Amino acid sequence: MELPKEHFQHALLLNLQALLNENPLQHNSLQNFPENKRYRQQLYKLKHYTSWNASKKWIHNFKQKHHIVSRKINKFITQKTLTDINKLEIEANNFVEKVKQEISLIGAENVLNSDQSGFNLEMHTGHTLSFKGQQQIETLTQSTNSMTHSYTIQPIVSACGSLLSPLLIILQEKDGKFGPRVEANLFKPDNVIVLPSNSGKMSTNLVKTWFTNVFLPNCNDNSVLLLDSWSGQNSKTFETIDKLSKNIKILTIPAGTTGMIQPLDVFGFRIWKNFIKHFSDLIVLYNYDINLHLRNNVIKLQSLIYYQLSSPRFINLFKYSWYKSGYLQEKPLHFDNPVDYCFKNCEAICELLCNNIIVIKCAWCAKSLCIQDFFIEYHFCKEYVA
Ligand SMILES: [Zn+2]
Ligand SMILES: [Zn+2]
Repeated sequence: MELPKEHFQHALLLNLQALLNENPLQHNSLQNFPENKRYRQQLYKLKHYTSWNASKKWIHNFKQKHHIVSRKINKFITQKTLTDINKLEIEANNFVEKVKQEISLIGAENVLNSDQSGFNLEMHTGHTLSFKGQQQIETLTQSTNSMTHSYTIQPIVSACGSLLSPLLIILQEKDGKFGPRVEANLFKPDNVIVLPSNSGKMSTNLVKTWFTNVFLPNCNDNSVLLLDSWSGQNSKTFETIDKLSKNIKILTIPAGTTGMIQPLDVFGFRIWKNFIKHFSDLIVLYNYDINLHLRNNVIKLQSLIYYQLSSPRFINLFKYSWYKSGYLQEKPLHFDNPVDYCFKNCEAICELLCNNIIVIKCAWCAKSLCIQDFFIEYHFCKEYVA
């Protein structure tokens, strides 16, 4: 029997709507609709009943007509976790309540969150303008290899919005150590501690080193530390470490809730990555002779960014991440977005009287600076101009 193709198109659309109504989270299975497997099978079956074959062009038009777009899927959620969502929300709420009590007991400045985040050696915004119809959008990068090789940073942020110094950076090094020559030439800024690892990622041993050498000496006597439930660390990891008679309470953020209630995830690392992407774009745009994937330049850049983000100008921004996660009742007052303040707000030429093109406005001294004065000379001004 031959079916008219309008019937088939209608059926396809109803099918899609039903599927979306039934479970909006299934967008991912529809990402390539109707090219995805399920629909291909359906198309194949229907081919038996109709002599009509859906061409690529037809599918394209069909998608356009019914406003079906491919969307980037940020999170994959299985059926099982869907039923657990309520449970997770309850766990998250309980955790938040517990932390709120700690904040009222010991003060927001003593409640801290720390987490690790992987960075590529080279990162770009990936945003570029292109003419309609242009098939492939190519963006310049210094090395395609460095877009995949990574290092890790681990910052510490307090519930009152300040970043604790120093920042830990884990670099990927052969055999997990620095050679003697590398060690001797390593750039060692005050606000950064650099450790080597085989993978460029954290390990349980490195977590212990971080706790002993970075966290402990810099936290107050009574502190609460929020950590996620990553397998390389749990409350037992720190049990055997001498706390220097400090009273440190470690609270583990329930698994699966970090996207909701881990301040650095909620609003922190994204800001950081955006900042580095905008800066790296400028290096490529102006073709500066700065090799961004060199070890010392990675350290220098992270150190400078850490310094910029630590500016009092952004205290409300980091406070906001705690507010958004539910720990703070009061919404912080307006704050500048670092990318807007530092990159979109500059004077035309460098204010250090050198007449060079500026690349950045310092979030501390508020001066617009050229690449020479900001990056090459390592701008660590230590003055704040509101
Ligand atoms: Zn400055
Ligand atoms: Zn200059």
